[in-house]
Amino acid sequence: MTALRLYNTLTRQKEELRPVREDIVRIYSCGPTVYRYVHIGNLRTFMLPDLLRRSLEYLGYRTEQVMNITDVGHLTDDTFDRGEDKMLVSARLEHKSPKEIAAYYTQAFMTDAALVNIRAADHNPRASQYIAQMIELIEKLIARGHAYEVGGTVYYDIASFPAYGRLSRNSTDKLLAGARGEVDPRKHHPGDFTLWKAAGEHRLQVWPSPWGPGFPGWHIECSAMSMSLLGETFDIHTGGADNVFPHHEAELAQSEGVTGHRVVNHWMHGGLLMLSGARMAKSAGNFFRVTELVDQGFDPLAFRYLALQAKYRTTLNFSTEGLAGADRALAMLRRRVGEWSTGSDDSSQGREFEDFEARFRAALADDLDLPAAMALVSEVTHSNLPAARRAELLRRWDRVLGLDLDRVAPDIELPAGAEALLEAREKARTAGDFETSDRLRNELAAMGMTVTDTPEGQRWKNAPHK
Ligand code: AMP
Ligand code: ZN
Repeated sequence: MTALRLYNTLTRQKEELRPVREDIVRIYSCGPTVYRYVHIGNLRTFMLPDLLRRSLEYLGYRTEQVMNITDVGHLTDDTFDRGEDKMLVSARLEHKSPKEIAAYYTQAFMTDAALVNIRAADHNPRASQYIAQMIELIEKLIARGHAYEVGGTVYYDIASFPAYGRLSRNSTDKLLAGARGEVDPRKHHPGDFTLWKAAGEHRLQVWPSPWGPGFPGWHIECSAMSMSLLGETFDIHTGGADNVFPHHEAELAQSEGVTGHRVVNHWMHGGLLMLSGARMAKSAGNFFRVTELVDQGFDPLAFRYLALQAKYRTTLNFSTEGLAGADRALAMLRRRVGEWSTGSDDSSQGREFEDFEARFRAALADDLDLPAAMALVSEVTHSNLPAARRAELLRRWDRVLGLDLDRVAPDIELPAGAEALLEAREKARTAGDFETSDRLRNELAAMGMTVTDTPEGQRWKNAPHK
C-alpha cells in the first residue's frame, strides 16, 4: 500500500491518510436530491469519490463507499423548483407521488452516472428510510443541550458548539450578517438551523415525532446515514465546494454534538463546474445533462477526460469547444492503444516502464493529482517505450482513469491486396518456407505495413502512429 496525502478542508492542508481500520478506507459521499435530473456539474462532484476509490484501490487499499439519495425535504419543499422543465416535469409527474418521483430520478441519476463510468457506491441509503435514526440523533442533541424545540420545530443551537464555523471559516458574526430573509423570531440565534420542522399545511411527506408531525431538516440526514452505515468514526467525507457551508458545517456540529468526538477524519470537496462564468445550476437554467452532450454527438467519457485534466479542487469552466477537444483527444488515445496492443515487442518491462508506473502512483498519492497523471499519459504516448508496453501502461492506468481506452478495436484499413499477401505469408511460414515469407514481408513493407512474427503468429501494423 502506498501512503496517500489528501487535502483536508478542515485543516486547510494535505494530510496523510491513516485509515481507521487498517484494511479498508470508508467513504461517505453526499449524493443527489432526486426531484430532477443531475447535470454535469453534479456529475463532476460525484466523480470525485469515484476517482478517489479507483486511486485507493490502485494503490492497494480496499474501499467502502456510501452515497446517500436525498428523497426527503427538498422534494416537497414549498419552493419546489421545477425550472424550465416545468412542462415536461408536470406532464411526466402529474398524479405521481413523491415516492414515484424519487424512484424515477434515482434511476435517471444511476444511468447518467454510469455513462461517465462513475461506479455505483456500495450503499445508496434513502433518507426516507432513516427517519427513526434522525429522530434519535435529534433527541440526543436536545438531551446534550445542542438543540431546542419551539412549537414542534427543533433547531440546532449553534452557540452551544464553539467549533461551529471552523470547517467553512465562518465566524458567528459573518453568519449573523449572512442570515437573509425572514428569520423565525423564536430562534436563539439567526444562524440556528432546522433539525426537525413542524409540518405545514401543504406537506406531502410527514412523519410522527416526539415533537409532533413533521419532517427532518436536510443536514441531519447525512449525520444519520453516515454514522448508521460507517460508524462514529470514518475516513473520508466528500461533497461539492458548495456543500461546505451550510451542509457540512451543520453535519459536523450534529455528529460531533452527539458523539462528543471527531467523526470525519478527512473532508474533501470538489471544485464547482462553471458555464460562461456562472456556476452551473439548475435554478439558473445554465446546465447540461450528460445525455444532452451525447445527443450533440460527444462521447460521454469526453466529459470525464475533460474533468481529469483539472485538479479536482479547482473550479472548472465548461465549454463545448473544450469538450470537443477532449472528445478528439480521447478518440486518438483509444486508437493508439488499439494499434499498439497488436504490436509484438519484447515483453520485458524495463526501467522506463517501471519509472512511468512509479510516477503515476506518486501522482495519485499526491492528493489525486490527475492532471499530472494525464500529463504522464501524454508522455507515455510520445516515449520510446516499445508500443505494446505503452499500450500496457495505458490500459493499466485506465483502471483509475475510467476512459475505456480499450473500447475501440484498431481502426486500420488495409491497403488493397495486403490481406491476400498476409494470408499467403502465414501459409508459407507454417510450411517453413522462409524465403517466400521474407519476400512477402518486403512486399508488405513497400505498402507501409510492418509485419512481425510472434509465437501466436504474425502481427501487423499499418502506418503506425507515434
Ligand atoms: P444536489 O442534488 O443539488 O444536492 O447536488 C448534488 C451535488 O452536486 C452536491 O454535492 C453539490 O455540491 C454538487 N453540485 C451542485 N452544483 C454543482 C456545480 N455547478 N459543480 C459541481 N458540483 C455541483
Ligand atoms: Zn450530505
